[in-house]
This record gives sequence, structure tokens and C-alpha cells, in this order.
Amino acid sequence: MRQPRRRAVRHLALTLGASLVVALASVGGSGPVALAIMPVEVGPGARSVGDPFYPTLGNGGYDVTSYDLDLTWHAPDAAHPTGWIAGVATIDIQLREHLTELSLDLRRDTTEVSSVRVGGVLARHRADGFGRKLIIEPPDLLQAARTTRLRIEWTARPAPVHRLGEELGVEDPDGLDRADARGFLADGDGGFFLASQPNGAHTLFPSNDHPTDPAPVRVRLTAPAGMLGVATGRRIEEVAHPDGSTTTTWVSDDPVATHVLAMGVGRSTLIEDDIPGGPHLRSVVPTALAPFAEHRLAVLPEVVTWLEDAIGRPYPFRTLGLQLVPPGATGAILEGQTLILAGAGMLDPRLSECAWTSLMVHEVAHQWFGDSVAIARWDQKWLSEGHATYYEQLWEAESGCDALGRDRRFRRLYAGAQAARDRGGPPDRPRAPRFAYDATIYAQGALALEALRREVGDERFRAIETTFLDRFRGRSASTDDYIDTASEIAGRDLRPFLEAWLRDDQVPRLPAGPSPSARPSSSVAPASPAEPTSSAVVVSASD
Ligand SMILES: [Zn+2]
Repeated sequence: MRQPRRRAVRHLALTLGASLVVALASVGGSGPVALAIMPVEVGPGARSVGDPFYPTLGNGGYDVTSYDLDLTWHAPDAAHPTGWIAGVATIDIQLREHLTELSLDLRRDTTEVSSVRVGGVLARHRADGFGRKLIIEPPDLLQAARTTRLRIEWTARPAPVHRLGEELGVEDPDGLDRADARGFLADGDGGFFLASQPNGAHTLFPSNDHPTDPAPVRVRLTAPAGMLGVATGRRIEEVAHPDGSTTTTWVSDDPVATHVLAMGVGRSTLIEDDIPGGPHLRSVVPTALAPFAEHRLAVLPEVVTWLEDAIGRPYPFRTLGLQLVPPGATGAILEGQTLILAGAGMLDPRLSECAWTSLMVHEVAHQWFGDSVAIARWDQKWLSEGHATYYEQLWEAESGCDALGRDRRFRRLYAGAQAARDRGGPPDRPRAPRFAYDATIYAQGALALEALRREVGDERFRAIETTFLDRFRGRSASTDDYIDTASEIAGRDLRPFLEAWLRDDQVPRLPAGPSPSARPSSSVAPASPAEPTSSAVVVSASD
């Protein structure tokens, strides 16, 4: 395998226009001052951000400031049995270093790049040795602190990637491992959808495919006659063409991390509604199933209201909805910014109202924790999943869906915590990527948050949560950022306490702590208070 290239260091000529670092060196203290010209570091940007679980993802040397994706979906036909996309990506980047070369994530065995322009000028490009990057050689040196525009024309065809790493194959698409399939996927009914988290966005479009680099996104989707394109954000334009195809444009001014950028084209119907004073609701449902979706979509306003009250901050985006794809297209229910992906199997009436609402509380909680504030590393997924699971547990305790109250609920999680930790590691130190997705890590993360609440009390816990959300809105945050925020708000060093809960091999004692202060009872009324939350419908992955 090819070794990473060493960073080239060159002395720059002034003709390159690069800024020179000028150092004033004092000789002998009060002696004469000498002017020294130091070499400026110039080279290719790193081809990784160094994520421990997904080491090939992300790229160094620049930040993406916006994505504009113009995508035309060509439905499957005899020549292209999976269908394909023709795309033009306009990506604005800000340089953090002087770069002679830069890379974007793009899976290469299922894509074809026809042209790359940097600042309007054609540039040479190639694949990296692993087949996972688009390497671009700009015609001129890219100077640090400047912005430049990349324009890439390419085609791509659907093909899954394994969510735990590209080296792991995806088994029979009809088999049990369908829940592991991520990326640019055919929906089985002539359309496609994007199920990115964690490592799938770059199977469809060139990107800096890591949550540390979220950016505003505009997606323009041209769908064949009878189909509809949808994406994260709000719909700003719809143009019908003489051939029956339609172009819809979706915009998110809020930064979006690539793994939660949702999109798709399908034989779907758009169902719209409004929450007074809250987000515009827009969901897409397979047209044939639209009459059966109403009761599932109906819980969203109540879920948003409940979460706003529980978290203490308004819903962070302007839109929210579900993207239901044909039954069997995916076994996952997947976090997506403003657009939550789920298979239409979720319409099965055997999935109880309680179980469904609980799933929605989890996924909508991600809009605050995971989307509005992105995670910084994939081995710190507890920061997103622990919060989503914590609020899910609170909702279940308040909803009356089962008899288990809050205290007994967290004691039950505590009873299983050491065994979970022995197997998969502590929440902030999962032993392998598969444990980062393990429900026990989710539960342990939720338990750590409950322990913190008991330690500092309701009021301070709420202040920690809201300060964290306010401080890191629109960017990524690490576990250390959360610990520092908690210590600051509590007025004492909570690092030993939180590190024990998040990083030690032994589960600490659960503080007795205060009982939760009384909150108004939930406005989400379960269909039947006696209804169990367990369901005959197996949800094979809830991320
Ligand atoms: Zn989740």
C-alpha cells in the first residue's frame, strides 16, 4: 500500500506571491537586529483528519465554506441497471495553509470525474492509491487564508459502503446486513436515497467527509417524470420541464455535516404542515403509502414541543420531516439534519405508537445534539447518542407508555452498565467502531448524563446543556469541550467525575442526587397507556 506522502517544504520565490515569514532575531540582547527570512511551509494538504475509527476520511489544509450540488438522477434502465447521477459540485473552500495540492473524499470505483476547475481554471486531477480520494493539483499555489471555488463535474452510481469501514464488505443486499449499508443507495423502486452516517456521503459527491467540517448546503435535484427530489433544508424552487422532469432546490443556511446531509429521489409525495412558532414540517413518503403515513407524521409537533421544553432551547432549524423510503430499502432509521430517514416498514401497525414516538424523540433530539452541534470524532459518538438516548429515556418515563419511572429506568441501565463496559469499553473509549453503534454505549452515555444531573442538580445540568448547545452551534464539539463547559457552569472541576463516567474501565457509583424537579407532564399522550414499548417490528438499527 502506498505510504502517505511526506510534506514538502520549499523556499518560496516572491514571484509565487506567497507571504514570507519574517522573523526579527535579536543578537546579543541589545545588539544589532538581524533580519532572517524563514522558510514557508508549503505542500499538499493532509489526506485525513486523523479520525481513529475512519482514518481515511477528511482532508486537511482547508475548510469548506459552502456546497452547491446540482444533481440529475437517471433512473435505472437496461444500460444502467442501478441508475446513475450526473453532478456538478461547486464547493467554496478557505485555505488554512499554502497548498500545492488538495484532496476531497470521493469513492472512485463507482464515480467518474470529467473535469475539475480551481478558481475557474481547469486543474489536473487523479485518484489516490486507496481509491477513496479525488486529488486535485491546482494550476497555481493556493495561498493560506484565501478562499477559492472548486467546480467538479462527475458521475456516480449507487453502491453501498459498510458503515464500520470500507474494508468490510456489504453482504447480500437482501440479507441481514442491509442495516450496515450506507451511502448512495438505490431504493428498489427506480429512485435513490443517501444514507450517509458515518462514512457514506463521499460515495455520492466529492466532499470533506468528516463532521469537523460542516457547511451550508444547496442541493438542486432533477428527477425524472413521476419522481420527486428532496434534501435537507427548505425548498426554495421547483421547476417543471417539458419532458416531465422536475428540478427542486433545497437550501440549508445552517451548516450541515456531510454525514447528516439527507437527500433522495423517489416516487414520493411531499406532505407539508406547520408548527405554529416552530419549524415548517415537510416529509416525503412513497406515494402509494401516503394514506398510511398520517398517524406517524402526526407525532412530530408534539415531539418538538416536548424536546424544546426538556432541553431548554428552541428547535434549532427551520424545517423538519421524515424521508420514508420504500419498504425493504433500508433496515435503518437514521439521523438526518431536518430530514430523518426511515424505511416505510415503520408504517407497519404492529409498531406501537409508543415505540414510534420514542424513536422520533431520539431522532429529533439529534437535531440539537449531533446536528446543530456536530461531533468531532467518531469514537466520541456518545456525545450525540448519549444525549438522544437520555431525552428518549426521559420521554419514556414521562409518557406513561410503561410503568417504569425515571429513577427505576436509570437504575435498570445502571444494572447493565458494567457488563456493557467490559464488553465494548466506556462511552468515550469504545473498543472498536462496532461498539460506537452499540446500544449499550448509547445507554452508558445517557447514564453518564443522569449521573451528572444528580451530581450538579437539575438547574445546573440544564445550564450545562444549553450553554454547550449555544457555544458550539454550527460547528463540532469534543468530549473535552463538554467537560470544560460542565466544569465552568458548575463552578468546579468536574473532569475527574466525568472522566470516570466516560473513560474509566469501572462504572462509578451512581450518585443518589436530587430527584428530578417537577416538570409539566408530557403533552404526548400515548395511544394506550398499557401499550408496551417493545414491538413486533424489529428496528435493526437506530442511529
Ligand atoms: Zn441516535
